[in-house]
Amino acid sequence: MKNDVKFVDLNSQYIRIKSEIDFAIQSVLNSGEFINGIEVGLFANELEKYLKVKHVIPCANGTDALQIALMSLELNRGDEIIVPSFTYVACAEVIRLLGYKPVFVEVDSRTFTISIPDLVKKISQRTKVIIPVHLFGQCAQMEEILKIVKDYNLYCIEDTAQAIGAKYTNSNGNTYMAGSMGTFGTTSFFPSKNLGCYGDGGALFTNDDQLAKRAKMIANHGQKVKYIHEIVGCNSRLDSIQAAVLRVKLKYLNEFTKARQKVAEFYNNGLKDLMGIQTPFTESYTSHVFNQYTIVIEQSGDINVEEFRYHLRKEMHKIGVPSVVYYPVPVHLQAAYLSKQFLKNSLPITENLTKSVLSLPMHTEINRLGATKVVNAFSAAYNHCKVGIKTKI
Ligand SMILES: *Cc1c(COP(=O)(O)O)cnc(C)c1O
Repeated sequence: MKNDVKFVDLNSQYIRIKSEIDFAIQSVLNSGEFINGIEVGLFANELEKYLKVKHVIPCANGTDALQIALMSLELNRGDEIIVPSFTYVACAEVIRLLGYKPVFVEVDSRTFTISIPDLVKKISQRTKVIIPVHLFGQCAQMEEILKIVKDYNLYCIEDTAQAIGAKYTNSNGNTYMAGSMGTFGTTSFFPSKNLGCYGDGGALFTNDDQLAKRAKMIANHGQKVKYIHEIVGCNSRLDSIQAAVLRVKLKYLNEFTKARQKVAEFYNNGLKDLMGIQTPFTESYTSHVFNQYTIVIEQSGDINVEEFRYHLRKEMHKIGVPSVVYYPVPVHLQAAYLSKQFLKNSLPITENLTKSVLSLPMHTEINRLGATKVVNAFSAAYNHCKVGIKTKI
């Protein structure tokens, strides 16, 4: 349907900033410089200023950023890396690719970020790194995590793919940008992320000069000087065209964030009287930049939440409002990552969340009409399904 609300709407955003984007892309075409070059350097500098970090190292995507960060730390085969299971597969994937062992931990059931009590339980002699994921757009409990990192002499890589622009405030009242607090921060510029380009892109950040040098070399075939390869690296570059797009979009990032927050506030207000759902909960130490607006359907009586969610989504879809489940299967139960240590029921909070979460349309171009449509469609579908359950039809 023409009036459907889109889950993500990159085209309308492009139309709004078209003249600047087209000019930026045309300039790269005119320059003939497509890999690295001026635009990539300028973008890295501008992102350094925005995040208040010393070094931004652009690379090919967010998964590579995680891989390059891990490679820079020079760990040993079999070393353990703590990572949430309720997230995108990228972290576990690069951990395994490099021969390390992912140790999965629970998330907090309200914020969906790494659970501190479970994290502490899972630290062992072989633990080397903690990867908190700032899931859906709000920061994990960085102060607690960094204290643990210090106490146990570990490293911390903040996966900031969904939370660029989020701010964390510690107990002294100091504020930090997401991704700027750990040993490394990493992000993705995948089109649907809060700072997205028109293809693939990513970056890692650090305040450590030595690690920055190493990461830069690794992203460039392990060379500082052309054709002199000091360490094993990989080939991971940001295209100049993407950098030019990102330079335009970075200028709008705070405005884009506010637009997302406004939509979230509208949803919160519209859904607050519905019994049996949990709307996004934001801790006071972090802002939320809403890469996703994710609700939880609460268990009540003997309803099968997963089945309820299936019918709810179908009803919403009929009224022209799409929804997505992030994430339907936890990483520890994926065929590729099964291990004896993490069988079914080993992470109950995570496993329950995969059955009961639902993300609603969220992007920078949702207006009042669109947001109203989402709230109304959700409420109607939800009430319809509730009645359906009661009368068992
Ligand atoms: C998108 C995403 C990544 C991976 O980014 P790509 O650019 O797709 O490789 C990693 N972690 C999280 C949490 C993500 O959302």
